[in-house]
Amino acid sequence: MSINQSTKFHAQTLALNAGLQPDPITHAISPNVVMSVNHSFQPGDGAFSANGQGDLTDTPYLYAGWTNPTVRQLEQRLAALEATDDAYATASGMAAMSAVFLSLLKSGDHLIISDVCYAGIIELALQILPSFGIEISAVNLSNLDELRNAIKPNTRLVHAETPCNPLLRLTDLAAVSEILQPHNILLSVDSTFSTPVITQPIKLGANLVIHSLTKFINGHGDALGGCVVGEKKLIETIRSKAGVYLGAGISAYNAWLIMRGIDTLYPRMKTMSDSALIIAEWLEKHPKVTKVIYPGLSTHPQHDLAKVQMKSGGAIIVFQAENMVKLEQAFATQAQLFHYAFSIGHQRSLAVLLKTADLMQSTYKLSQSQMEEYLDYAGQGVFRLSIGLEDPHDLIDDLEHIFK
Ligand code: PLP
Repeated sequence: MSINQSTKFHAQTLALNAGLQPDPITHAISPNVVMSVNHSFQPGDGAFSANGQGDLTDTPYLYAGWTNPTVRQLEQRLAALEATDDAYATASGMAAMSAVFLSLLKSGDHLIISDVCYAGIIELALQILPSFGIEISAVNLSNLDELRNAIKPNTRLVHAETPCNPLLRLTDLAAVSEILQPHNILLSVDSTFSTPVITQPIKLGANLVIHSLTKFINGHGDALGGCVVGEKKLIETIRSKAGVYLGAGISAYNAWLIMRGIDTLYPRMKTMSDSALIIAEWLEKHPKVTKVIYPGLSTHPQHDLAKVQMKSGGAIIVFQAENMVKLEQAFATQAQLFHYAFSIGHQRSLAVLLKTADLMQSTYKLSQSQMEEYLDYAGQGVFRLSIGLEDPHDLIDDLEHIFK
């Protein structure tokens, strides 16, 4: 029996069961890891070409560059969680994003991208894509007039990230999709910070959802992975190009690890979000903290949108404090529970200082008004906390100690 998103089950149940194919010989319940790169086939089976003809994803699994039986189980589970048809699992979140840009955009096309989003993605857009003849506009997508003004006859794709890294600014996905639909412009959404537990962008009108599976979806900090999720036809186009030409596919072993992580995605996200709210409220009252940004707090500038678009505030908190450099040292040398490290979404809590000047030099190219908006959220820099599964009161004790 194979369960997919068209069945009666709730998402929390699908997180355990969608795509699961018990072994027909041993009846093993946990998925096998099939490491085979190729599978034998009969001439005429599963005819396909790299131009996207034929069904590339079901048996026979000709070559793991497209998918493989373990990877396919992961893909079916991801599609079910995002309430759509199909998914393509990739070697990393960046591979997923490169796959989307390089398979859907061509020379002469125009891409609109959130002016602030994960550094690797905005750098790919601003530093690499123009050399392929792709025109880029980086705009603040929480300002719908900025989006409307940026649309051109050759705009093919808008890429949003909500909540965005590192500001936790939100994009109103339903409103953006309503603006784009009459123009036939595709909307892709990086939903890494939310996961499908908190927001399902396709239900709000997005065409494609991108995740870094490396983060909350795997949730254990031990496997790189990414995915693009959406309607079958679009996913087949992306897979047929990125699978072969970019070699973007995920390894079967990482797919297996990530599937095991997804088994506990719902309870993990609930525990982490509940803890993050407790910690954000505590931070807001701390005398040395000057600003807290967390979508679950009523002080978040888009809290009303968060209440509509997000089922909880998520597990990432951003804050500013007095004497950030001293605090950075304390995080790195005195914390017992917080690990001073990049990345997010692990079972253990992580903290890092993101300095505005560094990011402006390496990553973002902001206009005067965009810069003012950035400074309004982040000032000279922010600490980003990724809250893990520890008891929140122990994490507060750790923070108390760091602030001393
Ligand atoms: N998208 C977001 C929002 C991220 O935070 C990251 C990495 O931090 C990525 C994409 C890239 O993912 P990966 O590191 O798996 O390539």
